[in-house]
Amino acid sequence: MKIPLSKPWITEGDIKAVEEVLRTSYLSLGPKLPEFEKRLAEIANTKYAVAVNSGTSALHLIIRSLGIKDGDEVITTPFSFIASSNCILFEGAKPVFVDIRKDTYNIDPGLIEGKITEKTRAILGVDVFGQPAEWDKIEKIAKKHNLDVIEDSCEAIGSEYKGKPAGSFGVAGAFAFYPNKAVTTCEGGAVVTDDENIYKLSRSMRNQGRGEDETWLYHTRLGYNYRISDINCALGISQLNRLDKIIEMRNTIAKIYSEQLSEIDKVITPYISLEVTKMSWFVYVIRLKDNFDERKRDIIIDKLGKRGIETRNYFEAIHLQPFYVEQFGFKEGDFPVTEFVSERTIALPFFTTMTEEEIDYVVNNLKEVILEVKKL
Ligand SMILES: *Cc1c(COP(=O)(O)O)cnc(C)c1O
Repeated sequence: MKIPLSKPWITEGDIKAVEEVLRTSYLSLGPKLPEFEKRLAEIANTKYAVAVNSGTSALHLIIRSLGIKDGDEVITTPFSFIASSNCILFEGAKPVFVDIRKDTYNIDPGLIEGKITEKTRAILGVDVFGQPAEWDKIEKIAKKHNLDVIEDSCEAIGSEYKGKPAGSFGVAGAFAFYPNKAVTTCEGGAVVTDDENIYKLSRSMRNQGRGEDETWLYHTRLGYNYRISDINCALGISQLNRLDKIIEMRNTIAKIYSEQLSEIDKVITPYISLEVTKMSWFVYVIRLKDNFDERKRDIIIDKLGKRGIETRNYFEAIHLQPFYVEQFGFKEGDFPVTEFVSERTIALPFFTTMTEEEIDYVVNNLKEVILEVKKL
């Protein structure tokens, strides 16, 4: 058997939706764009959504709409996908990292205040692996210090924290729709917000800085081409039509994994806080127990690969990426929990259409491989 780390779920209905757009003359900035945006705003329970060509673009538009610039600092997590931190660098601001909780892998709210300076402008939290961060605590700290809160919800569309949807926290949230996400548009992303200013600026900057009436050759500010095509939007709408089903199927797979893996002595299964009232799983990440030699993690990944099972060391710490080390002088030991966790995690194959047979195959091989490497 060959089992990929991730696989998109594309139905005949999805293909039809894309084909229909191709038979019209509205391939971009057509009717599918506002339709997709309306659905996204409903899911995030926000007034507005601005769909763009990637989650990274969405994050950049939020940072820029807030006027975050050179000399400013933004507090964020080093245990994330690189884009949540790079979007701060795009505008010349400085990411100030705060270590994570060892159980949820999300930013540790208890460590945030110690990092606030007079340069701090915002806190950018990430809903890691689909699990919302502790938004009530983060928002409370932000309010006290007059900071903006940004939610990177690129991995968590459909999740809920204390009954409120991912994407709805802070001044604005970002979604992403790359093929490995729960909902895909091939490439795509969105800003979701209640803030009219962020909405207007994001719309303008997505489309070359055009004015509000979007007159074609009239540019009121510096903008980008962050547009998403109507083909992508049609695919997104078709996928969102079964969002509940997608979330349910992914929850079932996660549950089966956790039940079966609980028998393996050296493995810690994902911990989901009770404050998370709905979980939209992005990836299923296990961690090797603290007393297990972490240097054997990569051997496990390698051995599973040889058995046709693709796994990955989600995430590598951002502060130890070569260009962060070079630019900011970060070093090993700066964020000990992040480093400890990132040396021991393994993302297992996880996708909406995964079968029980495939889950069994992964679990059985993981059991065997762990026994093998224990002897090394
Ligand atoms: C996927 C992802 C992004 C960016 O998404 P792209 O669409 O690939 O640009 C940003 N942040 C996090 C946490 C992500 O997982």
